[in-house]
Parts: sequence; C-alpha cells; structure tokens
Amino acid sequence: MEDNTVTTFAGVKAFKQDLSVHKEWDEIEYGDEKFYMTKKEFEHIEQCEECVDNKRPTSYICSDENCLNYKYRYIIRETDLYNITMDDQYEDKYEVTLYMVVSPESLCNERKEEVNSSMDRVDYISIVEYGTCSIMLGNEVISEEALERNVLAAKEAVRLIDSMRGFYLDRAVNRIGTDGWHIIRYALGKVDRPF
Ligand SMILES: [Zn+2]
Repeated sequence: MEDNTVTTFAGVKAFKQDLSVHKEWDEIEYGDEKFYMTKKEFEHIEQCEECVDNKRPTSYICSDENCLNYKYRYIIRETDLYNITMDDQYEDKYEVTLYMVVSPESLCNERKEEVNSSMDRVDYISIVEYGTCSIMLGNEVISEEALERNVLAAKEAVRLIDSMRGFYLDRAVNRIGTDGWHIIRYALGKVDRPF
C-alpha cells in the first residue's frame, strides 16, 4: 500500500517525497551537528526607486536600505537534542531547522569581523552558528524515526519558499523579534542594529 502520510515543513506540504531533491544539496558534518546546504548560490537583486529611475547598474553600491543586492543559500541544521542536552526527555529527539543565510561575501565588513572574531572563520556554517545574520524559516522537533522524511520535506519546501521568499521574509521572526528583511539589512550593513 502506498504511504500517503504528508510531511509538512515550515507550513509547506511535501507531497512528492521526491528523492531527486537530495541532488540539490550538499551534506556537511560539523562537530556534533549535521548541516545540509543548497549547492546553488541564490541571488536577490532589488533596487531602490532612485536607482531604478537613474537606470543604475545592479552592481552600483547604494546606501539606500531598499537597495538589496546579495547572495544567499539555504541551510538545514540537524541537531541531536539528546547529544546536546543529555536530558532523558530528549532521548531520540532531533531538531531540524531551516535557515536562509546571507553569503559570506555579501556580509558588510562589520558583520564579517563579528563572525570572524567569534567563530574564527567566515563561511556559511559559521554564519549560521553565529546567529544574527541568518533567517530562521522553519523549525521542527521530531523523533529519530521521522528524521529522514522531515529533512526531505525541508529540502522540498525550499523549492516553494524561494519562489515566495518575500512572504517568508515578512513572516520570519528571529529570537529578538525582527523580520527577515531587517536581518538582511543588518547583514548588509544597511541598519546598525539587529532589532
Ligand atoms: Zn539604490
């Protein structure tokens, strides 16, 4: 009998359980955690009115906070909660979190220095671990038995999330209550505070 169980991630239903989606992701073991990162580096290009009116090239460096040109990838972080907490209530429990992460090269110099001084390097994984320049799009705590389908659902969800990222960035809220756009502006140095 066909398994019709539908897994959702970040509110997106994964109907297909399409294994081919794995080809779009790299797997990275780092310390006690496992990360999955999109092979593709995505690019967001948005110009302010003045840049549009003056037909400036997208490479033009503009300080207007509505000019948002940056690269990014999606990263899934898989955490074995028991391994981290050693608490019996988390036995067999995993946390799967999906992030949109501004690329190391797109970060403004201050943010690069902050990540570097805390993590000793500036790459996609260290940016996620550092925290303030990544946007959490979804988060589930699940049992080990559901882990594989959940990660697959998260990977599938990215296909839809990226095409509707404006909606998800409006909705995404980080720990200090800022929306996704503000985090991107902070990462790019368009605003001085992460909140
Ligand atoms: Zn501009």
